[in-house]
Amino acid sequence: MIQDKESFKKAYLDTFSRVESNPLELSNNWEKYHALVSLVKEMMNSYWVNAVKTNIEKDQRRIYYLSMEFLIGKMLAYNLMNLGLENIVREGLADLNINYDELLLQEEEAPLGNGGLGRLAACYLDSMAQEKDAGYGFGFGIRYKYGLFTQKIVDGCQVEVPDPWLKDGYVWATPKPDRMITVKFKGNVRTAMDGNRIIFIHENYEPVLAVPHDILFLGYMDTSKINYLRLYSAEPVMQDFDLLSFNQGEFAKAAAYRAEVEAISNILYPEDQNQAGRELRLKQEYFLSAASVGDSIAYYKMIYGSLDKFAKRVAFHINDTHPAVSIPELMRILIDEEGMSWEEAWEITVNVFSYTNHTILPEALECWPVDLFRALLPRIYMIIEEIDRRYLQDIGSRYPGDEELLRKTAIIADGRINMAHLSVIGSRSVNGVSRIHSQILKENIFGAFYKITPEKFHNITNGVSHRRFLHYANQPLSDLISQAIGVEWINQATELDKLLAFSNDRGFMEQLAKAKYKNKERLAKYIFERQGVAIDPSSMFDIHVKRLHGYKRQLLNALKIMDLYNAIKEGKTIQPTTFIFGGKAASSYQRAKDVIKLINSVAQIVNNDKQVNDYIRVVFLENFNVSLGEIVYPAADVSEQISTASKEASGTGCMKFMFNGAITLGSRDGANLEIHEAVGDEHFALFGLTAAQVMELSVAGRYNSWDEYSSTPRLKRVIDQLVDGFLQTTYDFHSIRNGLLWENDCFFVLKDFMPYTVAWEGLNQKYADQDQWLQSSLYNIAKAGIFSSDRAIKEYHQLIWNRKGPVV
Ligand SMILES: *Cc1c(COP(=O)(O)O)cnc(C)c1O
Repeated sequence: MIQDKESFKKAYLDTFSRVESNPLELSNNWEKYHALVSLVKEMMNSYWVNAVKTNIEKDQRRIYYLSMEFLIGKMLAYNLMNLGLENIVREGLADLNINYDELLLQEEEAPLGNGGLGRLAACYLDSMAQEKDAGYGFGFGIRYKYGLFTQKIVDGCQVEVPDPWLKDGYVWATPKPDRMITVKFKGNVRTAMDGNRIIFIHENYEPVLAVPHDILFLGYMDTSKINYLRLYSAEPVMQDFDLLSFNQGEFAKAAAYRAEVEAISNILYPEDQNQAGRELRLKQEYFLSAASVGDSIAYYKMIYGSLDKFAKRVAFHINDTHPAVSIPELMRILIDEEGMSWEEAWEITVNVFSYTNHTILPEALECWPVDLFRALLPRIYMIIEEIDRRYLQDIGSRYPGDEELLRKTAIIADGRINMAHLSVIGSRSVNGVSRIHSQILKENIFGAFYKITPEKFHNITNGVSHRRFLHYANQPLSDLISQAIGVEWINQATELDKLLAFSNDRGFMEQLAKAKYKNKERLAKYIFERQGVAIDPSSMFDIHVKRLHGYKRQLLNALKIMDLYNAIKEGKTIQPTTFIFGGKAASSYQRAKDVIKLINSVAQIVNNDKQVNDYIRVVFLENFNVSLGEIVYPAADVSEQISTASKEASGTGCMKFMFNGAITLGSRDGANLEIHEAVGDEHFALFGLTAAQVMELSVAGRYNSWDEYSSTPRLKRVIDQLVDGFLQTTYDFHSIRNGLLWENDCFFVLKDFMPYTVAWEGLNQKYADQDQWLQSSLYNIAKAGIFSSDRAIKEYHQLIWNRKGPVV
């Protein structure tokens, strides 16, 4: 047990001598880091052993949160904070002549996600540990050898570089080879009779081993609040490999088999909000699904002896449709391996599954060609066909003659398998991730399902870990808050409301301003050291960080800055502002990469023009990820959340900014609307089209972007400046201009341009009155509590995972 500095030093030195091969004096920072992680991991392991016993004794429900992405961020300092040991460790190490901050730099961030979806899953792991009394939640994912690429900016353009995050081993994960699962691909299915029952035998398949690597997660200051993320890596079945390579001498074939197997956990698809239609992706999805479902069954039988009451004690949650094949996979195990009837198996399956939809963008909705699917997963395909057949039969008899309904909800149609339809039909609950998004699901893409099963539909607005993104990432503010209202807000974020009592406390408000300034200095220093651009921490920090995507409209922001540049050249004065961008574009998404180059070109012009750079500067941050986010979100004055209404299902970046006291400049979309509702008009800059207007204008013929272009001279000017030499580069921006004009601006950049610029000006003027600004900043922090992922997880427990269903 570590209670103080001395006991820590003893434990650290013990661990060091056990796990390192060098004496402390001769070892490098990585070895010192490795020993510290080993110590923390050992402690966490013993907490876990206790927690799992309690979990079994109390017969608590187990929730399997299946996600193709988990963007967990760095663990060392965060775990120590949750254990309340950070100061003890820092001081103890200092006594041993070790600099704790230098050890922190040794850690690699696990890049196992693209953006919001993966980060949400990580926040939910955090909150599932914290809220474990309502049920134990675990993450199940894939241990990609190469996660998301590292982004370099070369000559203003994105260059993708592989990130070998496992090169030194990832110390937080513990392999659990005894819990591996065999996953079967391809082959053929033979039927036979077993008495009077038809059985299905999967033959000539290619086996792949799914080997788990577990990472423990902690809740706050309570060692019973602990769970794990189980990440699977794909490995060949060794016996087969040896037989092939040595007995038959078919070495090349064996090597090819190994390569094919390992490919499954080799790369994370770098697409964000875009479906990856490749066989390997489907393999990954089934690999995760079969490993997770197989593990849950094996574990359950180990604890309870049979599958009795499985649906009472187990829940599976699928994070978007990517793990939707786990629905037919559970059916397969229950029927083919456990000998249940279809009806028994279906009763269990629809009671354990729930599904979160994350997008209505058509290009992100998964559909698999039947031929590809059937060849890869022959038995699973048969089961999906049967689910579909029975579903259509049932609906057909309940709504006779309603062909439209069948057509709109069938799983298999036009030679494709619709994974969203499979997910809705196979789940007891379907939820959207913000109020407006859930409404759109019911009225729009799942309208037909809503008509027949309205009770399935829920909304659970996303949340973020305020422990990571405020308490951990923003120490100056966290300390100030705790001094003012005590520490309970760290467990219960709605306590932040109590801060409103300090709005007239001069001393407090001055400290609030100081905390923000410190965070801005930290970011300015980071930018100067990495990118050599000097920015002024007293300027307004206007920040736009997130994946690059048409619907997120970084282009709208860039055009606004060009317009501002023009105006300042003509004598306009404003509150000095630093525009900060960051985010990765999918490697195949050329238009998004063009926008990165555009932002950097604008930055070149602005930052090198003495006439304007007292007023504005522009920075594009390289390689935005969780660790950088932890520096960026706390430093923001303005949070740019300007997606085309209806397109951003929720957004979570908006919430991280809010917890850190930024004021949102937001379109009428996703969680923006709920943030606006929480703080009111005075403390939020809302602008632009509504979702309903966007959907109405999207109907052919209702919108003509040329009208906006020709009726707004300021807008026409910046659009022309894209291609008239203004940007002083040989890079060709015609494609961006064509998108806005000849392709009719499908994200309504031109339509929202004026409302957006006007809203921005309002905020910029407000910044001149620092007292007023700070009031709004405080208001945002105080009202952010409902956007904690603790609240979201409580709602998942109450509304979905623990909902009483039939006991099967
Ligand atoms: C929170 C987060 C996101 C999601 O941001 P949005 O603004 O909601 O798109 C993406 N990437 C990282 C690294 C994050 O931390």
